[in-house]
Amino acid sequence: MAVKEREFPIRILQNRALIKRLRKNHEVIPRVESDLKKISAGYKGERTVDYQLGFLEDKKYSIFHNIRIKVGTQYFQIDTLLMTTCYMVIIEVKNLAGIVRIDPQIRQCTRILGETQEGFVDPVSQVEKLTLLFKKWLSKHGFNVSDIEILVVISNPQTTIDFTVRPEIHSPYTKIIHSQNILHFITTLNKKYKHEIISAKDLNKIKKLILKHHSVLTSNVLDIYGIVEDEIITGVQCESCNAAPLPKVGTYWTCFNCSYRSKNAHIQAIDDYFLLMSNHLTNSTLRNFLHIPSRHAATYMLKSLNLKTSGIGKGKRYFQ
Ligand SMILES: [Zn+2]
Repeated sequence: MAVKEREFPIRILQNRALIKRLRKNHEVIPRVESDLKKISAGYKGERTVDYQLGFLEDKKYSIFHNIRIKVGTQYFQIDTLLMTTCYMVIIEVKNLAGIVRIDPQIRQCTRILGETQEGFVDPVSQVEKLTLLFKKWLSKHGFNVSDIEILVVISNPQTTIDFTVRPEIHSPYTKIIHSQNILHFITTLNKKYKHEIISAKDLNKIKKLILKHHSVLTSNVLDIYGIVEDEIITGVQCESCNAAPLPKVGTYWTCFNCSYRSKNAHIQAIDDYFLLMSNHLTNSTLRNFLHIPSRHAATYMLKSLNLKTSGIGKGKRYFQ
């Protein structure tokens, strides 16, 4: 059963907000759109795997979807971690369409899609490295686990996995499977590992530690794409045609371009501010971003949003 669910990737929301708030012909948009497509496909692939693992309802399984923890100063991210008292397995999910050609002898992976062919990082080496980091993390917290299983799941059922040479029986490359075979793989692990490697009490401690140390990656997308704040279109935006800044007419934000009216369009604008500009707002930054002249109107709006706050007076900060 799932101990931790997968968060919806904030980068998807950030890239969507960015596309909406840059002028239409901005040169960075194709890159933002292409990244958005990749991240969305990756998330979709991970959800396919989550769905399969959802059938493991037995309490003996502790499943973590997407954890990000650190050893020393180095963060590492695990797509899925499954633990029982008898074994642990780290699952790496790959969403790749077309043909995935793998040469297990020289650890080389190529993806062939139509006419194009491109190399990609060997997922087996990648997940082997994750097991080392996770073992190190466990040992730092006083738990020594000698063996961690690996699994690479190709989430797209239409993808062909093509080995240039058949991997030998004990080769880690036999651990590359399609998502529909996950449950079968777990059954084989249940047969292979019959002895406890960790007590139920320690497993519980590890679960709590992971939840405590997990931290969501927050990225500054303006930095990633080399965009300066001035390039971001400010103001409440029309939900129908994206025009901005919308004026408030009576109690409605009213579009000068398409006449669309909305009472709550400012909520999305504030979300966009948090996604793109900063993790906190003040009364004055809100007024600047939404083009509202009245300090009182801004205070009223901030109160209605039930945001977390710190400080008082003009320096009062609001957090999502
Ligand atoms: Zn409009």
